[in-house]
Amino acid sequence: MRLSRTHLKTLREAPADATLESHKLLVRANMIKQEAAGLYMFPKLGWRVVRKIEEIVREEMDYIDCQEIHMPHVNSADLWQETGRWYAYGPELWRIQDRSGNDFILNPTCEEMFTDFVRKEFSSYKELPFSLYQIQFKYRDEARPRYGLLRTREFIMKDAYSFDATEEDLHTAYMRQYHAYEKIFTRCGLDYRIVEADNGPIGGSKSHEFSALSDWGESDILYCNECGMAATVERAEFKDEAPVKEEMQELQEVFTPGTKTIEDVCAYLKLPTNRSIKALMFITYDDDLQPKDYVSVFIRGDRQLNMTKLVNALNIPEHHIEFADENEMGPATGIVGGFTGPVGLKNCVVVVDSELKDTVNMCAGANKEDHHLLGVCYGRDYTGDIVTDIKELQEGDPCPHCGKPVSFRRGIEVGQVFKLGLKYSESMNATFKDESGKDHPYWMGCYGIGVTRTMQAIAEQHHDDKGIIWPVAVAPYHVIVTVVKSADETQKALAYDIEEKLTRMGVEVMVDDRDERPGVKFNDADLIGIPVRITVGKLAGEGKVEYKLRRESELEVLTAEEAIAKAKALVDEEGDGRYLFKNLSEETMKSH
Ligand code: ATP
Ligand code: MG
Repeated sequence: MRLSRTHLKTLREAPADATLESHKLLVRANMIKQEAAGLYMFPKLGWRVVRKIEEIVREEMDYIDCQEIHMPHVNSADLWQETGRWYAYGPELWRIQDRSGNDFILNPTCEEMFTDFVRKEFSSYKELPFSLYQIQFKYRDEARPRYGLLRTREFIMKDAYSFDATEEDLHTAYMRQYHAYEKIFTRCGLDYRIVEADNGPIGGSKSHEFSALSDWGESDILYCNECGMAATVERAEFKDEAPVKEEMQELQEVFTPGTKTIEDVCAYLKLPTNRSIKALMFITYDDDLQPKDYVSVFIRGDRQLNMTKLVNALNIPEHHIEFADENEMGPATGIVGGFTGPVGLKNCVVVVDSELKDTVNMCAGANKEDHHLLGVCYGRDYTGDIVTDIKELQEGDPCPHCGKPVSFRRGIEVGQVFKLGLKYSESMNATFKDESGKDHPYWMGCYGIGVTRTMQAIAEQHHDDKGIIWPVAVAPYHVIVTVVKSADETQKALAYDIEEKLTRMGVEVMVDDRDERPGVKFNDADLIGIPVRITVGKLAGEGKVEYKLRRESELEVLTAEEAIAKAKALVDEEGDGRYLFKNLSEETMKSH
């Protein structure tokens, strides 16, 4: 490929709204270009990277006999109404209508479509187990598209779905995908962690996220170096502290003027915050987004609420709850903003964090302006309609498994695997017949990879101040041959000769034969991050070139033949990224 005939419009300046280096560099390298908020086009070099990642994904999916198919990007609303996700998925679901006013969606994920296909196309236990996948654009009308390709409204996802006869078989299918993901992200050159995750709106019972470590990631990970526990903040369990054992005291109302926060009231009453009860007020909505219930939530004063655990406890979608207007909620329920406590409430769902169960002599709001109660005892003075763990595990808290303090990292969620169980097969009546002709619902799993998000995660982990440093396996080209002076026929002839020879060996080469100053060419080569640069300059007459790896600073003067051999050897070694498998476990490597 010759740059003199190819569009490449690199930029000096990054877009003003870009904060992440990877976002800035991908735009400057002319690999992505925003069309509208969260909608990107991919110029040639960027699209080649997408294709490379897709190919790695394809190879590992095919290796585990996951079968590639392709679904339309648009789906009729009927299927989504059948599972109830038409209502539950919320404003991210991109709804459209056809000319007759029929409802459709742009697929944000495809559980319904695949389950529908399987219930029509498959019927017998003899066809089991099987799994299907596609690599397809997905659409989510994200509230805040941002960070370049990390959160877009249109993105490429690999989504796979497994169908099995039993729960044990589902586990096997799940682990097969899990190990394939380890290979995929390893081949992409990512430094990632696998963490337990919440199932979210997809549903099901068990899930893991694959997170590329980065301070800019939107996935918060807690992990324990001692025992290996790793989970997203949404998911991380909390080991409750046992309640203090004391004689129950009388309830006592105290005057606490102007103390609206836990810190204020505890300072005023000289109490540690862990002897106080924090209140948070919510309102929930039904499927038609009409107000449903007021919800009063109580946790220990020194803890933080985990919204994901709360919506799971209430069994509602995330977008069916918001903070309540305390002035409106007050008359109906008895709460008083800033002075709310669990004693004597009415007309609301009371959710109490499990750690408060059996606590005695706590301080809580008195539901009366400028007053608190002392001596509040669980069981005697209040209980909860729901009592469960709704608090957030935080850095330094004891690990729920081994008790050692947990650490915190951020990551970019590049993939997630889910055990769905019977959720979709039961609600959509997707069944197979066993040997005796009896119908059973499929045990299902689903498995997603954000291909375009992965592309940026790689750039985020592999760059320096000059540009991107693509790992060989995903680089748009393996080698860039830079012609120092394009007007010089000797230089050009040698460059084209190197191009020809390397191309025949299966090495992907671009030649920078543009009529530009050498400095511009070197800067561009660094910016777009091609792994090998072969510079053809003054020594071309002697058949000599400079050979330099993008990831290293030294360069060598070699004969053209030596440079060709070296580039070929590098591509042989690193071209598919499998050389990085050395750190994968034996179990992963054996998994087929
Ligand atoms: P997030 O929590 O970041 O919104 P998600 O958990 O909702 O993502 P999944 O439903 O698990 O996403 O989708 C599978 C994969 O698709 C994700 O692991 C991620 O890599 C990718 N993905 C999801 N949403 C987006 C988006 N808005 N832009 C780019 N990639 C996305
Ligand atoms: Mg996810």
